[in-house]
Amino acid sequence: MPAETSVPTDPREQVALGCRVLAASGQTDLIWGHVGVPDPAGRGAWIKARGLGFGEVTPDDVVLVDRGGERLAGTGGVHVEYPIHTEILASREGTGCVVHSHAESVVAFSATGMSLRAIGHEGTLFTPPEVARYTDTGDLIRTPELGVDVARAMGDRNALLIPHHGFVSAGPDYAHRGHDGGPARQGLPDAAHRGRGRDWLHLVPR
Ligand SMILES: [Zn+2]
Repeated sequence: MPAETSVPTDPREQVALGCRVLAASGQTDLIWGHVGVPDPAGRGAWIKARGLGFGEVTPDDVVLVDRGGERLAGTGGVHVEYPIHTEILASREGTGCVVHSHAESVVAFSATGMSLRAIGHEGTLFTPPEVARYTDTGDLIRTPELGVDVARAMGDRNALLIPHHGFVSAGPDYAHRGHDGGPARQGLPDAAHRGRGRDWLHLVPR
């Protein structure tokens, strides 16, 4: 009988656990990147406080922020890129979790302009069709207006590349985002493989 998997229900615990999973998968970029989950009362997004790496986050380091950037709960500072979470959660009904990281491999891969192809089975969770791409800026998403733009570019897809910056992924529930190492693990091997000009073995039948 398979062991039961325990997924926390407290948003602070969800965010802290998600951050540590991202740390374990090598997605830390100093203090950047975040996991966000919706507030059950609809007040905004719970995200990790600023100034911490993924591996440092505990439930006490998670804050509730509204769409205007005001901290409604928690004691830490609010990440400047909070609009990624608040605007995607506001625009996509049923979204249960948003992940944003500056994974090194995604930053490098997205700068090539190439389309991401699945080179492993987990890659088929994201493509085809082509992963969404936000191209208005590679800078930090600092304002609600930019957050709206990012949400619009993502549409109903589950992942979005931001060239020179990172990726955003969103799904219906917290457990679905356990695969968020996928875009990061796909990027560099994909670029390297095609850089050698070898024949392509398609994982998804065409
Ligand atoms: Zn970012």
